Amino acid sequence: IQAVFQSDMGLLLEQVGSGKESLSFMKRRIRRLSAQWASAARRLDDKLRNHWREQKRVLVHVGFLTEESGDVFSPKVLKGGPLGEMVQWADILSALHVLGHNLKISVSLKELHGFVGVPPGRGSCPLTGPLPFDLIYTDYHGLQQMKQHMGLSLKKHKCHIRVIDTFGTEPAYNHEEYATLHGYRTNWGYWKLRGQQYMTMFPHTPDNSFMGFVAEELNETERLNIQRNKVNNMAVVYGKEASMWKGKENFLTILHRYMEIHGTVYYETQRPPEVPAFVVNHGLLPQQELQQLLRKAKVFVGFGFPYEGPAPLEAIANGCIFLQPKFDPPRSSLNHDFFRGKPTSRKVSSQHPYAEQYIGRPHVITIDFNNSEEFESTIREIMKINVKPFLPYEYTCEGMLQRLHAYIQNQDFCSPQAPFPPANASWPWQNSKSSPFRLQPDSSVLTWASNGSFFPSWPPLSALRLLASLEGQSCVEACQGAGLICEPALYRFINIKEAFSALHFQCEGVESEMNHLFPAFSAEHAECGLQQDPLLFSCAGSGVGYQRLCPCRDYCDGQVALCKDCL
Ligand code: UDP
Repeated sequence: IQAVFQSDMGLLLEQVGSGKESLSFMKRRIRRLSAQWASAARRLDDKLRNHWREQKRVLVHVGFLTEESGDVFSPKVLKGGPLGEMVQWADILSALHVLGHNLKISVSLKELHGFVGVPPGRGSCPLTGPLPFDLIYTDYHGLQQMKQHMGLSLKKHKCHIRVIDTFGTEPAYNHEEYATLHGYRTNWGYWKLRGQQYMTMFPHTPDNSFMGFVAEELNETERLNIQRNKVNNMAVVYGKEASMWKGKENFLTILHRYMEIHGTVYYETQRPPEVPAFVVNHGLLPQQELQQLLRKAKVFVGFGFPYEGPAPLEAIANGCIFLQPKFDPPRSSLNHDFFRGKPTSRKVSSQHPYAEQYIGRPHVITIDFNNSEEFESTIREIMKINVKPFLPYEYTCEGMLQRLHAYIQNQDFCSPQAPFPPANASWPWQNSKSSPFRLQPDSSVLTWASNGSFFPSWPPLSALRLLASLEGQSCVEACQGAGLICEPALYRFINIKEAFSALHFQCEGVESEMNHLFPAFSAEHAECGLQQDPLLFSCAGSGVGYQRLCPCRDYCDGQVALCKDCL
């Protein structure tokens, strides 16, 4: 069946159900953004004109909202608790619905059972017969629940699963035996899912797929009005929980010398003592009213927590400058409690690395907050500069629809991958001295030499740019340095001896090993290492003494998840 764009949110709102603050929050959001989704759908529909889009049967099981997982989030929706996850799930549901897929939603075990055909109260009765879904979006909690209640059949169906995973899961942490042997064990279980089945909130490591969410979009009139009505000396402080304001008096005092400070800190009856009297505290605001406040404010100030939330993108989209602290040294699961135990060693260089690295000045200013002179002079600078509202394409509704559409139609973790290199002597370069890689004229970039369509792949092989990292560098960094992005799906094409020679590495020996740094060249013994386990192909990995082989690709402007040949 062909999927047809649908812009009426009525059915979706019915399906989301009720009875919890979290669901009400999500429904308010779906309703509020429905016009924005509808016009994005029209635009994408125009662009995709002749594309056949297969309608998929999709189950969304939101594990963290189930009673069985404890549901600590719902009771805190109106009390300053985290909302980012709910923002994202509301947007995922909206996007799947708008793309026209056949959607079922579950927020309890009972509903899950109903959908996957296991009668309630039957414990671990396995699902027999085929899975009635092409795709299942869930989270780590939901995965655990599906394991308990689908039993062994989960294994059979796991290629259909996508895990929404805010901070990401790196390959070295995903592989149980490897993690156990090399100190990458965490509590997050080992599901033998491919890295790209995990979907993140921001484009962290490309080892995972970037799912994202959306922020409010403005029309031309709104943009002009915002720029006209900006109040140069108005600041909004980021953080809806009083604890996030603790110990920040000195910054607030400096800021207050120049600006009127607004906050949206939740309180019950009394003003929280952490929030100084000179701050105008609005209490926790509905999303819509927060947007209005941001439209007037000149600067949105982060004090270091929460990490990597949606609010800074909303502020920037409404024409604020986001001022945030740099973390030096960067924080990660190796040195910081919040990240400890998360299945990633990603280094978080500021409160919001995406804002810092992908957006940057003038919209985002990242400084050392311990230097109060720098803090003060930055405030003065902010009052003088004018910025326009800005939203990266990948965080618009159209951008999210485009990306999700591309994943749904092209990512395939179920079919066995064509063997590579192929068993039956049809290598294009076999029996000749020629290399499978070709140096592009006028550049130092190596691409695949022959017609890549011989090896089905998405992203297509034509997107491949083969690079070597510097010693100790990851492929994330190496590709970034060349204006490209690491593409884990293309690793299998560069995990061959010929890739080393194309890059002029002289291998004394070639070994094949389970090592998340491989393929890589180790300078010390001039050893070339090939990867033995495809689950360990890792863009994120880096190690002293290793120059890694990196499969990079280009990406579309404002849509890092998709290469130019990907659509
Ligand atoms: N938010 C809100 N009212 C407020 C403050 C924030 O509705 O007074 C919303 C905001 O619009 C954003 C969401 O809370 O979409 C999540 O914000 P944050 O960046 O703080 O991330 P979190 O830690 O909640 O995941």
